[in-house]
Amino acid sequence: MPARRWGKNFLFDLNLTGRIARAAGALDQGSVIEIGPGPGGLTRALLAHGAREVIAIERDPRCLGALAEIDQACPGRLSVIQGDALSVDVAHLGEAPRRIVANLPYNVATPLLLGWLKHATAFECLVLMFQKEVVDRLAARPDTKDYGRLSVITQWLCRVTPQFEVHPKAFVPPPAVTSTVVRLDPRPEPLAPARLETLERVTAAAFGQRRKMLRTSLKPLGDPVALCAAAGLDPTARAETIPVEGFAALARAVDEEA
Ligand code: SAM
Repeated sequence: MPARRWGKNFLFDLNLTGRIARAAGALDQGSVIEIGPGPGGLTRALLAHGAREVIAIERDPRCLGALAEIDQACPGRLSVIQGDALSVDVAHLGEAPRRIVANLPYNVATPLLLGWLKHATAFECLVLMFQKEVVDRLAARPDTKDYGRLSVITQWLCRVTPQFEVHPKAFVPPPAVTSTVVRLDPRPEPLAPARLETLERVTAAAFGQRRKMLRTSLKPLGDPVALCAAAGLDPTARAETIPVEGFAALARAVDEEA
């Protein structure tokens, strides 16, 4: 039985692993980077789908034997890095076009994504399985309960396309939650000009007090009424009603005031 440590819920269903691999498009150019291959169910699907090269990062040494068997079956196409994906600079691994494809360990899924988004244009696309509630947040539109910091930062940098849900029973052992596969396509340029660091500060302030009006929640960043005026926003609006471009305008206003 796979251990629960390090977020282990394995997928062996060939239909599902094939669907995830196909969601990343043609794989015969560049490199596919897989995070947490475990015993290699998705790895096999990526290679069967024609991946030129798969670079797999796995923390658990007990998975290395199974991955070595896959390497023997597909000589020269699989390399395995044993280590913590949080400390690997994936933006420079392998060759472009780079695609990240992964059934992520859920305990580190959001920090991994936020790290990759800092180098979003390094990737052709990211096809990732998260728990469903995270994908709901990534794809959320304004005026919904799921819309928040993760929605704004991700949609500012990427087009977000949920693909399909995966029932807990598809995994061994079944996790407590439903999962969703999502495809992220990094934009050549962010949706509107802004600095990522400032956008992070603005969204942290605004959504940190999401029920409050901007004229209150933005106080830590400067004069909130002046910032809203410069960004063309109503200071009595609340964070959850502001589109991504509005947050980018606020970030520019903060940087201009500084
Ligand atoms: N991809 C496999 C599958 O679909 O069957 C396994 C997915 S399982 C949800 C997550 C895998 O990520 C486990 O094999 C676990 O050992 C590995 N893992 C957990 N934390 C990790 C980390 N920080 N860096 C690299 N791998 C990690």
